[in-house]
Amino acid sequence: MDKTLTRAQITQAVQEAYEECKNISGGHNADYIPFLANIDPNLFGLSVTLLDGTVINVGDTEYKFGIESVSKVLTAILVLKQHGADAVLKQIGADATGLPFNSIFAILLENDHPSTPLVNAGAITACSMVEPKGDSWGKWEAIINNFTDLCGSEAQVIDELYKSESDTNFNNRAIAWLLKNYNRIYDDVPMSLDLYTRQCSVGITASQLSICAGTIANGGLNPVTKAQVFAPELAPKITTLISSVGFYQNTGDWLYSSGIPAKSGVGGGVLGVMPGVMGIAAFAPPLDVAGNSVKAQAAVKAVMKKLDLGVFNGDRVTVTD
Ligand code: GLU
Repeated sequence: MDKTLTRAQITQAVQEAYEECKNISGGHNADYIPFLANIDPNLFGLSVTLLDGTVINVGDTEYKFGIESVSKVLTAILVLKQHGADAVLKQIGADATGLPFNSIFAILLENDHPSTPLVNAGAITACSMVEPKGDSWGKWEAIINNFTDLCGSEAQVIDELYKSESDTNFNNRAIAWLLKNYNRIYDDVPMSLDLYTRQCSVGITASQLSICAGTIANGGLNPVTKAQVFAPELAPKITTLISSVGFYQNTGDWLYSSGIPAKSGVGGGVLGVMPGVMGIAAFAPPLDVAGNSVKAQAAVKAVMKKLDLGVFNGDRVTVTD
């Protein structure tokens, strides 16, 4: 069916969703990374980027929070760009694990590949694939420049968060070495793990994340800067990865109830992609037991419901003035 939405309708839906969700309680800040435990749990931002470059921001959308697992989406795009979709499938995989984001069990079960670049194991492997091989600084530059291109503005590591994660990432160290055992780390192991830890520690705003989501929704063309950041044929590949594992073991429930492929992070961020229509991001630190932001989930769902949108609805959506 053809469906037309106006910018005013979308703006109103975002504002109403924010108001409805701002007093939702429940959940707890991630506490296994000490820095995240101390972030103000009342922060809340909601942002939508339309494909004409309009960015609708409500609440704390300029607050820089830890991007954490949402970074996996951005670096998966970089690796797709550098190596192509087939190589990513072969060297990492595209399967949902059905297990928590940091599962070691998942690696043991699927010893032939690390499943998907959107769980810790696959994300560490993705960092090992970033070019130029063997050059830690060059690889970091590629990762952070790709963040800038996708988000339309620069992002920087939060040093205190980076230190907090580096001091406590024992589980991820085990993952990295286990992957090495299966020949699934394609560069130096400590370097690959460090790049992963650093990318998780980048401070990002909800507004920047919604522009990144809008870039994916727009086939790789950043709607704000108008730069073609990645080839259009990679957009369905990254959206597929997000659809299948973006909420870890809760991904099916999420997609079924929200209608939008989205990726969460333990910093409280959620990035959602409605292909051909909009990117959306929400941020609020308290998480449910699976590590997904309680308020951000509610806010994204509320926007989708108000606009009667869903990635599988079969509608041809046009956004007008
Ligand atoms: N840096 C976090 C970790 O590796 C990211 C996890 C997440 O956001 O899901 O444990």
